[in-house]
Amino acid sequence: MEILYRGIWAYGIAATRVHGMDESGVRLPVGPQMKSKKFQRRIENFVCKKCGAHVKGSGYTDHCPVCLWGRHADVNPGDRAAECGEMMEPMRAEAKNGQYFIHYKCTECGHEFRVKSAPEDNFDEIIQLINR
Ligand SMILES: [Zn+2]
Ligand SMILES: [Zn+2]
Repeated sequence: MEILYRGIWAYGIAATRVHGMDESGVRLPVGPQMKSKKFQRRIENFVCKKCGAHVKGSGYTDHCPVCLWGRHADVNPGDRAAECGEMMEPMRAEAKNGQYFIHYKCTECGHEFRVKSAPEDNFDEIIQLINR
């Protein structure tokens, strides 16, 4: 185990990278300089900076299921390539074809994006965002 980062990955995202293994057990280069444009699945648990909830990662978790706040970590979904790392505020939500989407805006850089809600997301919060 190496200590890799000094608070850059406040959500504990470093945990998976510290191991430096992909699913086939191949040793991968570790560090924020590692960037890829492809979708990558990472299992990562984190503590929500907004509400303090302990969130168990599913590999696709990019936001807190309790308060729905996210973290600006991805350039493309799952790649964790964004250097910003600040909190993403859920601005509004919409329902489309039986799926809920949450629109985010980064509190630091203003980047906006939309994600699908996860089954474990707090539905009351989503409804509130839809009715906003
Ligand atoms: Zn939260
Ligand atoms: Zn940002």
